[in-house]
Amino acid sequence: MSHLCYKNYVNGRFMANTTGETFSVVNPATGKEIYQMETADNTVLAAAVKSARQGFKVWSAMDAVQRSRILMAAVVLLRERNHELACIEVRDTGKPLQEAAAVDVVSGADVIEFFAGAAPGIEGSQQDLGRDFYYTRREPLGVCAGIGAWNYPLQIACWKSGPALACGNSMIFKPSEETPLGALKLAQIFTEAGVPDGVFNVVQGAARVGQWLTGHPGIEKISFTGEVGTGKKVMARAASTLKDVTMELGGKSPLIIFEDADLDQAVSAAMLGNFYTQGEVCTNGTRVFVHEQVKIAFLEKLLGRIQANIKMGDPMDPETNFGALISEAHKVKVLSYIESARTEGAIQLCGQTCPDLPLENQGGFFLPPTVFTDCTDGMTLVKEEIFGPVMAVLDFNDEVSVIQRANNTPFGLAAGVFTNDIQRAHRVIHQLAAGICWINAYGNSPAQMPVGGYKNSGIGRENGLETLRHYTQVKSVYMGMGPLESPF
Ligand code: NAP
Repeated sequence: MSHLCYKNYVNGRFMANTTGETFSVVNPATGKEIYQMETADNTVLAAAVKSARQGFKVWSAMDAVQRSRILMAAVVLLRERNHELACIEVRDTGKPLQEAAAVDVVSGADVIEFFAGAAPGIEGSQQDLGRDFYYTRREPLGVCAGIGAWNYPLQIACWKSGPALACGNSMIFKPSEETPLGALKLAQIFTEAGVPDGVFNVVQGAARVGQWLTGHPGIEKISFTGEVGTGKKVMARAASTLKDVTMELGGKSPLIIFEDADLDQAVSAAMLGNFYTQGEVCTNGTRVFVHEQVKIAFLEKLLGRIQANIKMGDPMDPETNFGALISEAHKVKVLSYIESARTEGAIQLCGQTCPDLPLENQGGFFLPPTVFTDCTDGMTLVKEEIFGPVMAVLDFNDEVSVIQRANNTPFGLAAGVFTNDIQRAHRVIHQLAAGICWINAYGNSPAQMPVGGYKNSGIGRENGLETLRHYTQVKSVYMGMGPLESPF
């Protein structure tokens, strides 16, 4: 057992629990424990809510420009520590350093910066009513809880805390127990930047801690990222205290490649949308619909590029672009989908063997990029979110039916279309039931662009100005300017 043991972060400092309970965190690329983390017990959780309520009073009373400057200072620290933070994410998640260094911290910092810049512009409205008038104020909600998934731990913590804090709320954040360190580092950075104590607390542990937050009457909002099934439980429990919710959930998104598409670009999108972060990305385009006229050419290019360009191995090696899955249990789950695809008649084109790995990575949870072709809509791998590097290629030959098939899913997170026919591109995208859509692109998610799901993939939005509405509430103030008329 590791001697390194981290604690929860409450009221601007680390706080020890009273039970002594800890859990162990494993590096997915080696299979070995890297540190222990203290579980938030009832003492820690109660202190977190108390200090978040106190922090909210201080923070919400500050001028929005003051809050903005403090958050901008945190952005500077995040960028200065990009390498250190990226390495933490690599060891916790198993993803390649070349990704974490370029995307994870940077995209988190970008979102905090965006909201720090936008929040001082939040304003109410005013309307004359003859002699009287009314005005509105956009006020913060209070204490918000953030519950995160394990695929982008630090980025998710930034995407939730950025808008929450910029709008004047405080936040208690619970990362996934598989990737708990990034959020603690963010909490330290916020404190160093001048965020008052209690405004961002981090509590650690598994589902029980999440349930505790979800049911607590002293918390006004839950912003959740995770699976659809968990999201439904969280929302049901949050309803008992009528909390506001934002739900960023799973998907099984279509990527439609028409016969006139630039095939090299389309292959890039299919690879990004299936193999980035070893396929553990919520918006992945895992149902790749390829027009039958270009299917053979597409598959040839795809397999050639997988063989030539994917480098699986030690995620800390800057040359590696394909890392390890999050856990042994998750690898077993992904393998079971691969097995079901084989038995249901899909043809496996690659991924049967794992390349040689360095000695220290041989206990890691690696699984090679896997492509199935001749998939049909009823197959399990086509219907369910796998959250691993498994691409299902499906054929189509007409626009109307491919739209109907793409929409034939309870999910609605993302969708992509590749075509050089500009009218078709928009016509098709407008008919796809998904919240995040790309034309001749895939996966980009700038801070300015709202993201979130249709149907079972979510409620509310993250990023973009749209999100300010999800972290504020409107107060209407009616002003009587003369005698009050009354029949009494
Ligand atoms: P998960 O199993 O649903 O867990 C998400 C978080 O909820 C974790 O922190 C988990 O804690 C916690 N949790 C589990 N049960 C809970 C309960 N009953 N009440 C409150 N909290 C509870 O999801 P995951 O496996 O971590 O992440 C993968 C999923 O996230 C995929 O479905 C993916 O598509 C989705 N995702 C969506 C987005 C998006 O923006 N739409 C982004 C990233 C990921 P523990 O893990 O510690 O048990």
